Amino acid sequence: MIKFHPDPELLSEYVQGGLSPINSIMIAAHCDMCERCEKIAHQQTLIHAEKFESDIGNLSEFKENASSDRKFDEMLESILNLPADKRALKRAQGLSASVELDGRRFILPKTLRKFIPSTGNWTSMVGRLWQAPVDIGNDSIAANLIYIGQGGGIPEHSHRGIETTLVLKGTFEDGINQYQAGDYVYMDSNDTHTPVCHSPQGCLLFTVLDQPLHFTSGVARYTNPFSHIFFR
Ligand SMILES: [Zn+2]
Repeated sequence: MIKFHPDPELLSEYVQGGLSPINSIMIAAHCDMCERCEKIAHQQTLIHAEKFESDIGNLSEFKENASSDRKFDEMLESILNLPADKRALKRAQGLSASVELDGRRFILPKTLRKFIPSTGNWTSMVGRLWQAPVDIGNDSIAANLIYIGQGGGIPEHSHRGIETTLVLKGTFEDGINQYQAGDYVYMDSNDTHTPVCHSPQGCLLFTVLDQPLHFTSGVARYTNPFSHIFFR
């Protein structure tokens, strides 16, 4: 069962469109995998839609006394009749739903599928790690698919900025908790951890960083330029 969810405030911001594009992507991808948060987001959407409708109602009363009735009606009409972007919908449906690594296929949550065409090749790294950079159209954010094979891991590190991870497949632990598919893991400058994977099928993660990691122990400490591996 999924144990780690985004904060309720974050979900509320999400449905109101108040989050940065990358935070929205992470929350939407989590909601694809998490029935609980999907329900909360849906309920919040209904609440905000009701509020929007009552706001529109108030505006209608106001406009009865306004001189530009016709213009207002036309504007409202054009907003309400905006056609859905059917071509974009078709494109999204036609996209492949999975990524492949070493002959294995991993189905991605719906929200992440649109990034499959902008996902780079897998690179094999030390520690049974694989990394594939995902171009999300923002140069100051590093987004990666990371696969950790059984017995593999990432050296102990702290965070200069914010690291958000969505577990897509398998499980891993980091000395603080154990995480499984669907878990939404938020780490910031207060957190130091050492992710390792013990599950036989390995684990697939989608991670987003706004600053390079800072390695804090072992050999990796002396090779902190290594931190840029995840930040390119
Ligand atoms: Zn959730």
